[in-house]
Amino acid sequence: MLNMTPTVLKNLLQKSSTRMYPIEKREPFERYRGELFNNIDECIFCKKCQIKCPSQCITVTKDKDSGTGTWICDPFACVYCSICVDHCPTNSLYMKPVHRAPSAEREMMEQTGKVKPPKKKAKK
Ligand code: SF4
Ligand code: SF4
Repeated sequence: MLNMTPTVLKNLLQKSSTRMYPIEKREPFERYRGELFNNIDECIFCKKCQIKCPSQCITVTKDKDSGTGTWICDPFACVYCSICVDHCPTNSLYMKPVHRAPSAEREMMEQTGKVKPPKKKAKK
């Protein structure tokens, strides 16, 4: 027991190596892939994100009669790889460098917008 005393005292006196999350939040690193968003006004419902997503968590549908499209994403299945963002032809998908808020219920992200003709991706 006496052998452990210096270690116990050292651990009691030094700063904690963990944070009191969510009270104390760490600033995200540069290029942190925190949360996926879709600027639905720019979305053309081309389904590229749905096809490329390795987690199959995106569903895109189009209703020809009403001329609207729906983009649905399951954030609980998303692995935040950013592949959908890289393949989106209109740059409507983007990642925000923020920590996604914890949730006890599984909620889907669902957005609806007008279907527009395809346009080329803007050069970065
Ligand atoms: S790839 Fe982009 S434009 Fe195409 S459906 Fe997905 S979010 Fe919309
Ligand atoms: S970030 Fe990756 S896992 Fe998440 S929706 Fe996009 S492609 Fe799918």
